[in-house]
Amino acid sequence: MPVPLLKLHQVSKTYHDGWGNEVDALRNICFTLEEGEFLTILGPSGCGKSTLLRIIAGLLPPSGGRCLYKGEPIRKPSLERGYVFQEPRLFPWLTVLENIGLGGGSAQEIVEKMDLQGFGEALPHELSGGMAQRVALARALAAKPKLLLLDEPLASLDSHLRSRLQMELRRIWQQEGVTCILVTHDIEEALALGTRLMVLSRRPGRVLIDQSLAAGLRLNKEQVLAWMEG
Ligand code: ADP
Repeated sequence: MPVPLLKLHQVSKTYHDGWGNEVDALRNICFTLEEGEFLTILGPSGCGKSTLLRIIAGLLPPSGGRCLYKGEPIRKPSLERGYVFQEPRLFPWLTVLENIGLGGGSAQEIVEKMDLQGFGEALPHELSGGMAQRVALARALAAKPKLLLLDEPLASLDSHLRSRLQMELRRIWQQEGVTCILVTHDIEEALALGTRLMVLSRRPGRVLIDQSLAAGLRLNKEQVLAWMEG
């Protein structure tokens, strides 16, 4: 049987705050992800969505369970698993080209692909919020990731920019053949972008729903809201 791109088995995460307090962030997360999927993850604030992405990225070890990438345990970050944060996190003293170049690939090529021509020499403070987030996306893509982990990357943008970047993300997924996991709390965004939808419960996050969004399986916002509240 072919090895899935990603496999999580009974993954849990408990944080210890150093004062003897424990926070159960995730419990018993099980799923596999095949190459080419676009998984969108919805869940209430604080239910462990970022924690889950960080574990998959290799930025954080799980407290229990197994997390395998191409059949191997995830122990550290890898350029194959790109990460885009909610805020762009660019180096303020580096130009757009230099920031993208940190991703390891050809910055110029990516600048053109991401429609950032003419801004290669600009510094982050000269960019609008939407542009800065495109640069962050471009930096992640420069490393030619197989898996793109998107932690609410559009949350801080106004609705116009947000829909533009949603289209951009969809295009990247289709054209670059990259597998995506997008965390969001926008139900419409999750339904519009995903090929598969996962809904997590309140903390500790557990998988409530794991549902294909393939054509013919159209879900509406009310249905998803009912799941989230139920
Ligand atoms: P979400 O992304 O769904 O909003 P997070 O994964 O950021 O949720 O956090 C899940 C829970 O774990 C929250 O209650 C949060 O306060 C807690 N948490 C996150 N990071 C830490 C940490 N480093 N130490 C202690 N608790 C944390």
